[in-house]
Amino acid sequence: MERSPVPVLALRAPKVPLLSLDTVWFQVAGTLCNLACRHCFISCGPGNRSHEMMSRAEVGRYLVEAADLGVKDLYFTGGEPFLNRELPGILEDALRIAPVTVLTNATLIDDRRAEELATLSRGARYSFEVRVSLDGLTPDTNDPIRGEGSFRTTIRGVEALHRAGFLPILTVAQTWSDEEDAALRERFHALLLELGITRPRVKVLPLFRVGRETERTRGYAPDEVLTEEHVLGYDFWNLQCSTSRMVTSRGVFVCPILIDHPAARMGSTLAETLRAFPLAHGACHTCWATGASCRN
Ligand code: SF4
Ligand code: SF4
Repeated sequence: MERSPVPVLALRAPKVPLLSLDTVWFQVAGTLCNLACRHCFISCGPGNRSHEMMSRAEVGRYLVEAADLGVKDLYFTGGEPFLNRELPGILEDALRIAPVTVLTNATLIDDRRAEELATLSRGARYSFEVRVSLDGLTPDTNDPIRGEGSFRTTIRGVEALHRAGFLPILTVAQTWSDEEDAALRERFHALLLELGITRPRVKVLPLFRVGRETERTRGYAPDEVLTEEHVLGYDFWNLQCSTSRMVTSRGVFVCPILIDHPAARMGSTLAETLRAFPLAHGACHTCWATGASCRN
C-alpha cells in the first residue's frame, strides 16, 4: 500500500482554508545566517544549508506568478537576507510588483548599504520597509540569546538605516513573561527614542517552540495541538496561513514557521498551494492562542 506523506496527526487536524493569497514570503537567504540565535525557530546559522539561497532568476519566476495571482505584499527573510549578493536586484524586481518588507538582523548594514537601500526606496512605486530583529535592551540581555557583540552591531545598523531615512521596525521575540510584557514593550520604544527615532515601531512575536528554541527551553507538549473544537466559530482570517505562503529553494511551504517540516511543503509553484492546510503542528497552537502573524 502507498504511504501517505501526511502525518497521522494531520488526518485529525482542523484545516485552515486559503481565504486569499495576499502575501508571499521568500526565504531568500535560505537558512544561512551570520548569527545563530538560541531561539531561532528554523535553527539558522553560518553552517545551516538545509534551505539554499535563492537566485534573482529563481525569485523572479515566483514574482511573476505572485503578480498574476494579485498578491498584495512581499516579504524577504532568511537566515540573513543581506548574505545574498543578489538581494539588491531581487528587491528592485519586487518593488515593481508590490510593497516590500525585508527582515534582517542589521549587523551587515553600514551607511553605504543603507544609502543603497534608500536609493532603491526613493525610486520605487511601492513602500519599502526594513524590519530589524533584536532581543534585549542591552548587550547583557541581548547577546546571550543572539551572540556576543550582536547588540552593538545591530544598533549600528539601525542607526545607519535611520540616517538614510528609514524608520526600521524593531522585531523582538517575547522571551519574558506576560506580566512583564507591557513594560518591556515600552522600554523597546524608549530604546528607539534614545537613538533619535521619534516614531518608534516595535513588533513583538511569541516564541515558537521549534528549531533551536526546543533546546533553549522546550518543545511542544503533546496536548499543545489544535482540534476541531478549537476552531469552532473561529475567524480564520486571524491565521497568517489563510492569506500567505512561503517560497523557498525547496518549493512553497505553508508559512515561514514550518519550513523544516516536510509535510508543510505544499507544492512547487504558488498555484499548487491554493488550498486548505491541516493545522497539525504545535506551532499552530501558538498562532491560534496568540493571534501572532509574522507580517508587519
Ligand atoms: S533569529 Fe534571525 S538573526 Fe537569529 S539566527 Fe535566526 S535568522 Fe539569524
Ligand atoms: S504554524 Fe501558524 S502560520 Fe504556520 S500553518 Fe500553523 S497556524 Fe498557520
